[in-house]
Amino acid sequence: MINTLLICGGGSSEHEVSLRTADFIEGQLAESEDIALMRVEMDASGCLTDKEGRVYHIFYDGKIRDEAGNAWDVDYVIPAIHGYPGETGDLQSQLEMFGIPYFGSAPEASKICFNKIKTKMWLSALGIDNTPYLFLHSLEAEELSKAHAALEEWEAVFIKASNQGSSVGCFKVSHKEDLEDAIAEAFTLSSYVLVEKALNARELEVAVYTYGEELIATHPGEVRAPADTFYTYKEKYAAGSRAETFIKAEGLSEEQLAWIQEVSIRTFKALKLKDLSRIDFFLTDEGELYLNEVNTFPGMTPNSMFPKMMQNHGHDFTEYLTGQIRSAVKQSLK
Ligand code: ADP
Ligand code: MG
Ligand code: MG
Repeated sequence: MINTLLICGGGSSEHEVSLRTADFIEGQLAESEDIALMRVEMDASGCLTDKEGRVYHIFYDGKIRDEAGNAWDVDYVIPAIHGYPGETGDLQSQLEMFGIPYFGSAPEASKICFNKIKTKMWLSALGIDNTPYLFLHSLEAEELSKAHAALEEWEAVFIKASNQGSSVGCFKVSHKEDLEDAIAEAFTLSSYVLVEKALNARELEVAVYTYGEELIATHPGEVRAPADTFYTYKEKYAAGSRAETFIKAEGLSEEQLAWIQEVSIRTFKALKLKDLSRIDFFLTDEGELYLNEVNTFPGMTPNSMFPKMMQNHGHDFTEYLTGQIRSAVKQSLK
């Protein structure tokens, strides 16, 4: 039996979303004959509890112990956490110390991708087109004036906390008088704030993952937010969301598809991602393509695109995940 620890929850605003991702993963492994899954939820202080409320600690010896001293070996971890401390790479750093193999990217790659500003610096350095931006490190007048100048030039901007996902801390600003409040709000969530040119664009998402020796980038899917808003937290997850998702984006030219494919693969390799990611793009009304962001642990809620795009590509998620687990555990025993 491969003892697999599924850690969900975590200390970010995406705690609830992570529980839904974990439900999906748990369901995928429920029938497995060689993978024994143990699910624990992490709270904001890092404490791990199971569904019965028992508290656990992970130890340097690669075991998990409950408070009565019972211990289990952990062969593999699925850090199904969006945001801190999973997608940020912090939990993975701990797993590296413990020597436990895990699903998804290593600490460094996770850190680069979870920070929207770091990601853009990397993309720019790699020559990969991304939305025009600047970033702010404080609310000082000089910094704010840069944002005002950007708004004037770009007519509308997105203000984003650098270290969030699920559209938390992400605001569209079209009016001068709303700008500083949005920036101040974003600064309550992160130390650096991104100011991005707002695009009129289609939103495309690509599932990029390793399957055996292969690195796959699927045909892009598409998400369409209602015309009066963007793809906000509410439109992503709330009951009554009006966003539409399409497993297969229609009407893309051969050239556009080839560009997206090439950039997805190049980004995955250059940022040294592992196992899986969802790489998101904008296709503007003028036909320009930009990489928007790289999600190292994409959502797997019933609305989420990653598993569906994989399925559409002809890969079954259960087979994929069990394959990744088996080969990582085999590798770690060498
Ligand atoms: P998150 O990691 O929170 O998903 P994103 O950068 O993807 O952050 O932004 C969330 C959503 O905001 C996007 O899905 C899109 O709807 C909208 N958005 C973000 N940046 C832009 C932009 N520059 N132009 C147009 N829409 C944007
Ligand atoms: Mg994101
Ligand atoms: Mg996004």
